[in-house]
Amino acid sequence: MVKLDELDLKLIYLLMDNSRLSISELAERLGVSRPTVKARLERLEKEGVIQRYTIKLNPELQRAHNVVALIIKTDEPEKLEEFKEIIEINRFTSKKYLIKVAVEDMEGLRNVIEGAGFEVLEIMPILESIEKEHPPKIKVPFKCDYCGKEIVGEPIVYKYHNRVYFFCCPTCLREFKRTRENIEKSKLKEHEIHAHEHHEH
Ligand SMILES: [Zn+2]
Repeated sequence: MVKLDELDLKLIYLLMDNSRLSISELAERLGVSRPTVKARLERLEKEGVIQRYTIKLNPELQRAHNVVALIIKTDEPEKLEEFKEIIEINRFTSKKYLIKVAVEDMEGLRNVIEGAGFEVLEIMPILESIEKEHPPKIKVPFKCDYCGKEIVGEPIVYKYHNRVYFFCCPTCLREFKRTRENIEKSKLKEHEIHAHEHHEH
């Protein structure tokens, strides 16, 4: 434990309020000599009481930004780049984008939306984001669960028996459904036959 006397504490409080006060100014305010102040400061620094002389930032500049994720549709994607508030642009298809906007308030967000003139499909405030140090580098292609071809545009998402399937086009989805239905029908028939056989025995 470092022992601090009244003079040390007064010195600390003065510096906490304004770390740029000179030794002369401190000496004057404390009513002690400059060598005394100098010696005290050296001791406080040596003992690690004063670790750094820092600055206080204008609270306006310290304010954290709100980051909002938006799924948008736009015919003029080049406009997105004009706004410094738009910190991330991810393209889905030619017109659909996922963007991240950093703004101070709703008004700032409104300005970006109106200024860039895009249509908002979905809007989600980001509460927390975790940056992975090594993001995956290999892009895994989306493949159609029916034909196996790579899905270029937006995949059609279909949930079937608690499993999610992706399809490249409505035709593949329709064919998938038909095949599944046929499988189920034949399974059902098998069941019926078995049930029948049981009856006969
Ligand atoms: Zn397909």
